[in-house]
Amino acid sequence: MAKESFKMDCHIHTFPMSGCSRMSPEEAIDAAVGAGLDGIAITEHDCMWDSGGLQYLESVAGGRIKVFNGVEVSCSEGHFLVFGLKNMEGIHFGMRAEDLISIAHGQSAAVVVAHPYRFSYEDGEYCYGLDLDGVEVMSSNTTATTGKYAVRLAGKLDVFRFASSDAHAIDTVGKYFNVFPFTMDSVDELAGFLRRTKP
Ligand SMILES: [Zn+2]
Ligand SMILES: [Zn+2]
Repeated sequence: MAKESFKMDCHIHTFPMSGCSRMSPEEAIDAAVGAGLDGIAITEHDCMWDSGGLQYLESVAGGRIKVFNGVEVSCSEGHFLVFGLKNMEGIHFGMRAEDLISIAHGQSAAVVVAHPYRFSYEDGEYCYGLDLDGVEVMSSNTTATTGKYAVRLAGKLDVFRFASSDAHAIDTVGKYFNVFPFTMDSVDELAGFLRRTKP
């Protein structure tokens, strides 16, 4: 029977794929299980796990938890989480956010702005003109002020409000999460859900 609520932390970095992280993928998965999550998305900086690597992560998870593949792309206007990409063709550090969104949507992937307003107020305001599928309103890199602006942005765009840890260490995994209304078996279901919830 499908569960009616599915707890996911969809913004997690592991070392060495994300050089700034202080936890291994194995530690991240164990921490997520310990935090009582049903699933996580690994979102390394500007690179994505390949299918062999993902299979390895699933074997580490051993059915205890779902592990989805994502990526956090550093665009010129801030950081963006992408879910459901088939490949990274044309996607690179420093690209324009609108180009990223257009490539992602071409692959039926979903794009969520990560911790908007973190780097500058202007970057956050820029998001009002983007075709986003979600806005991260809570994370370990969101403050009371930037969170308030992010909630306003999500409301105006009428897109999904993302809560995720942006964990770079085991004590942060699962600190923030979303409860989805059904069990998700693949990252494509997550991408589809985010895109469907848009007006
Ligand atoms: Zn970031
Ligand atoms: Zn991040």
